[in-house]
Amino acid sequence: MLPIIAITADTLIDHSPMINQHNADMAPSPIKEAVLAAGGVPIIFPVPSSLEDVDVMVAALGPRFDGLILPGGPDVDPTTYGQEPQPQLGRTNYLKDAFEIALVKAVLKAGKPIFAICRGLQIANVAMGGTLYQDLQGVATIKHIQAAPGNFPTHHVKCVPASRIASLVGTSSFVNSRHHQAVAQPAPGLSVTAQAQDGVIEALEGEHFLGVQWHPENLWQQDPTQFSLFTDLVARAQH
Ligand code: MN
Repeated sequence: MLPIIAITADTLIDHSPMINQHNADMAPSPIKEAVLAAGGVPIIFPVPSSLEDVDVMVAALGPRFDGLILPGGPDVDPTTYGQEPQPQLGRTNYLKDAFEIALVKAVLKAGKPIFAICRGLQIANVAMGGTLYQDLQGVATIKHIQAAPGNFPTHHVKCVPASRIASLVGTSSFVNSRHHQAVAQPAPGLSVTAQAQDGVIEALEGEHFLGVQWHPENLWQQDPTQFSLFTDLVARAQH
C-alpha cells in the first residue's frame, strides 16, 4: 500500500469571480507534486468551519493517513502560546491553528511521522509547548523575507552533525527564506538542529517530527538534497 500523506489546507482569501471559490481551501501544488514524486499519495484536509468541527475532524481523519505535512501559511495566533498580538503581527487564522494543534497532538500520540514547513514548524512547536517570535525585527540580523523569487536560495543554514536534517541536506545548506516569524523557545522534546548565521532557528526535530523554516517544496525540483526531505517522510510513513 502506498502511504497516504495528509497536507493541511489554508483558506484562499484572494477575491475570485466564482462565488463557489470564495474562501476556498488550498494547499501548495509543489508539495502535492513532491509527495507523488516521492512515492506517497497526497490528500488535502480542509480548514474546519468552526471550533466544534475541530475534534470531530481530528477524530475521524486521524486514523486514515500515514504521515502529515504541515505547509507554510499565515502567522500563528500568539494567543495559542500565551501572548497578545503585537503590531507587526500579520494575518492569522484561529480555526487553522486550532485544527493543526489538535492534529499534531493526535498524530504524535499515534506515532505517525510529521514533516513541517515554515509556519508548519512554528505551529507544531506551539502544539508541543514552545513559543514563537511574532516578528523577527530586532531578533534577526540577516534577511529572512527574501526579495528574490521564492525558489531561489538566499541564505545558508548550519545543521548539527549527526542530526536527521544533516543526514538529509548536509551540515551546511543554501535555502530560501520567506518568514517574519520564527521559533523562540523550542518545545520540550524538540532539538534545534539547524540555525541561520544570526541564530534564527531553521530546523527542529524530535521523535516522529522534523520541521524546517525554509520552503523545500520550491527547491526540490533543482536540489536533490531538498527532495530527500519528502522521501524521508514517505519512508517513515511506510513503517
Ligand atoms: Mn530563514
